Amino acid sequence: MLKDQDRIFTNLYGMHDRTLAGAKARGHWDGTAGIIEKGRDWIVQTMKDSGLRGRGGAGFPTGLKWSFMPKESDGRPAYLVVNADESEPGTCKDREIMRHDPHTLIEGCLIASFAMNAHTCYIYLRGEYIREREALQAAIDEAYDQGLLGKNAAGSGWDFDIFLHHGAGAYICGEETALIESLEGKKGMPRMKPPFPAGAGLYGCPTTVNNVESIAVVPTILRRGADWFAGFGRQNNAGTKLFAISGHVNNPCVVEEAMSISFEELIEKHCGGIRGGWDNLLAVIPGGSSVPCVRGENMRDALMDFDYLRGELGSGLGTAAVIVMDKQTDIIKAIWRLSKFYKHESCGQCTPCREGTGWMMRVMDRLVKGEAELEEIDMLWDVTKQVEGHTICALGDAAAWPIQGLIKNFREEIEDRIKAQKAGRIGAMAAE
Ligand code: NAD
Ligand code: SF4
Repeated sequence: MLKDQDRIFTNLYGMHDRTLAGAKARGHWDGTAGIIEKGRDWIVQTMKDSGLRGRGGAGFPTGLKWSFMPKESDGRPAYLVVNADESEPGTCKDREIMRHDPHTLIEGCLIASFAMNAHTCYIYLRGEYIREREALQAAIDEAYDQGLLGKNAAGSGWDFDIFLHHGAGAYICGEETALIESLEGKKGMPRMKPPFPAGAGLYGCPTTVNNVESIAVVPTILRRGADWFAGFGRQNNAGTKLFAISGHVNNPCVVEEAMSISFEELIEKHCGGIRGGWDNLLAVIPGGSSVPCVRGENMRDALMDFDYLRGELGSGLGTAAVIVMDKQTDIIKAIWRLSKFYKHESCGQCTPCREGTGWMMRVMDRLVKGEAELEEIDMLWDVTKQVEGHTICALGDAAAWPIQGLIKNFREEIEDRIKAQKAGRIGAMAAE
């Protein structure tokens, strides 16, 4: 269990002072130049040793990702791009950092950029995040005024600039290569990988794209040490983590906890329990809409980390956006709603996703109404398998996996509805 003194994002817990003075009082911007003085290799190695895995959803090791950037400049500038296009349904953790702890992120941008030889950082903000842009810009302005950004940033000898870029509201622009395209002024359509951004990213230059939370925890890790961070959670699943818990809990919230906390403890400690009690829990999507749902009874003892949720439950930690659904939920309709979302957000570039998302949504529509044939359940499963792994970016997988989770865990419910409809026991159910 995480103690108060081990929380990185203290502003989330009642100490609402996001000004530079407030941030400094909590220890941020303390000895930043000294950290930079220790050099790139030390910073990258410490990040590797900390075990931090990317907090945007994929969980790729952050220190390893940084090490892909060229050590010496080959004449091209290097860039850090912070992905603040937080759009995964259920996910609102980065929003809290930008609203309440913007200086933690800005200091992280400086140190991470230095470690990757970048003099420039772009923060790409979700279109709807107006208040967050204002909070972040105010903090950036304050940091420039105080010499923490710009020439000789924070007295480190490193010249460093940050620019905010406000997106226009497309979910796909959160995919790192679509984000880069959008930043370059083009339509936000994902690129084929490889090359990965470290080889050819923004303007064809070495680029690392990191999530807001991944960068915001950097200064604290470097100050308190890799062992301190690695001491939370379990092997390969280290650190503290922001969880955004929504849905049918008594107190939905965003909280920082130790990785690998059990689902029950997370919900009891921070959310006041499940609405109507644990017996009323139907299903949980533990990591934002892109991961499969899990039956409630299998979640109670689950460890909230990458390996347990994937290995034991066939789901994932994703963005740690925990969506709780009680027995009053129409789970088929809930997953149908996600299908509709992915169909709408597909960029249309590759056929399995462009056509498959529409196919899947239409069959889901029939399942919600109970109007499908029983064979269509297997057909839908096959379609998800044709989409999964056959697309340019992860949106195709993200559209397929929630449906796979539904069929795997709630097949009986789907079949019951079809049978009831055929027997005339239910009227036509509107999908919307
Ligand atoms: P990914 O696994 O393809 O890549 C993760 C990161 O690791 C990327 O930065 C990528 O460049 C890097 N990487 C992976 N393999 C590499 C290699 N061999 N060499 C160099 N770099 C490598 O996943 P992704 O498509 O970036 O992200 C998918 C995840 O995004 C999903 O799991 C989902 O949870 C999450 N997601 C998050 C949001 C949000 O709002 N935060 C929205 C949609 C999806
Ligand atoms: Fe576009 Fe979908 Fe292909 Fe991704 S998978 S590139 S969103 S069509």
